[in-house]
Amino acid sequence: MTARILDGKALAAELRAEAAAEAAAFSAEHGRAPGLGVILAGDDPASRSYVTAKEKACAEAGIRSREVLLPASAGRARLLDAVAELNAADGIDGILVQLPLPDPSLEDEIIEAMDPAKDVDGFHPANAGRVALGLPAFVPCTPAGIMEMLRRAGVPTAGAEAVVVGRSRIVGRPLSILLSRKGADATVTVCHTRTRDLAAHTRRADILVAAAGRPGTIAADMVKPGAVVIDVGVNRVPDATRARGYRLEGDVDFAGVSAVASAITPVPGGVGPLTIAMLLKNTVEAARRRRAAAAGKGAVRP
Ligand code: NAP
Repeated sequence: MTARILDGKALAAELRAEAAAEAAAFSAEHGRAPGLGVILAGDDPASRSYVTAKEKACAEAGIRSREVLLPASAGRARLLDAVAELNAADGIDGILVQLPLPDPSLEDEIIEAMDPAKDVDGFHPANAGRVALGLPAFVPCTPAGIMEMLRRAGVPTAGAEAVVVGRSRIVGRPLSILLSRKGADATVTVCHTRTRDLAAHTRRADILVAAAGRPGTIAADMVKPGAVVIDVGVNRVPDATRARGYRLEGDVDFAGVSAVASAITPVPGGVGPLTIAMLLKNTVEAARRRRAAAAGKGAVRP
C-alpha cells in the first residue's frame, strides 16, 4: 500500500481563503477589520519568526494585528498590564501571547489574566474546560486544524480506534478530548513516556497521531495496515548536507510508514500550516461573537 498524502499546505490555503472571506464580510458589516493583539516578550529568534508569520497571515486575510513588544526583562507586572490593555481594547478581538515566555513560570498566570472571549489560542482554563465539557469554546489551533483535516479528508472517526502519542496541553490532551467528544465519537487511547508498551497501543490504531516531539517515535512495524497517520512532530535533525545545518523531521518514519498506512501527513507541509490558518479562523469567530454579544444577542462566550 502507498499512503495518500494529506496535504496540509493545500488545506491551509483553503482555510485561509475562508477566513479572508469571513473577515471581509465582518469588515463590511461593522466598519472595521477583526483585530488580533500579539504579545511578544524577549528576542528569541524562533518566537520572533513565528510572530512575524502570524502577522503576515493576518494581513493577507484582512485581519488587523497589533504587536505589543516587551523586553525579555519584562516581569509579571508589565506582562499583566499588556494583557489588561488588550483585554480592554475594543478593536482587539483576539489575544495571542507568544510562548514560551522568557520566564515560563509566569505563563499560567498571564494566560489566566486573558479575557477568555479573546483567547483565540484556546489556552485559558475556561476554554480548556469548555472543550472538555463539549461546550462552544476556542479550541487550540493545532488540534483544531487536525480535526478539520480529518473531516475534510473524509476520514471517519466514529467508532474508530484513535491513539494519540503525547498529552501536552497544546496538542495531545485537547486532541484526545476532541476525538472522543460526541460527534467525533472515536475510542481514544492517550500514550506518554510512562506508557508501558507503546507499539502494542499504536498497532491497534485506525487513526494514529504522533505528537511526542521525538524523531523516530513511530516506525513502520508500529502501524496497523491501512491506518491514517497524523504526524504533528517538528524536529530539527542535524544534517551537514543542508545549508542551515539541519532538516525538519516529524515523529514518524515517513518512508517506512507510507508503505503501510492508507494516509499520512508529511513534515513539513502536513499539520504545520494548519495552525496559523486556524488562528485566523478563531480570530474572526471571536470578532463575530463579541459583536453579537455587544448587540445583545447573548453573553460573550468563547
Ligand atoms: P511536549 O509538550 O514536549 O509534549 C510531548 C508529549 O509527548 C508528552 O506528553 C510526552 O510524554 C510525550 N512523549 C515524548 N516522547 C515520548 C515517547 N517516546 N513515547 C511516548 N510519549 C512520548 O510537546 P508538544 O508541545 O505537544 O509538541 C509535540 C511535537 O509537536 C513537537 O515536535 C512540536 O514541535 C510539534 N508541534 C507542532 C505544531 C505544528 O505543527 N503546528 C504545533 C505544536 C507542536 P510525558 O507527558 O510523559 O512527558
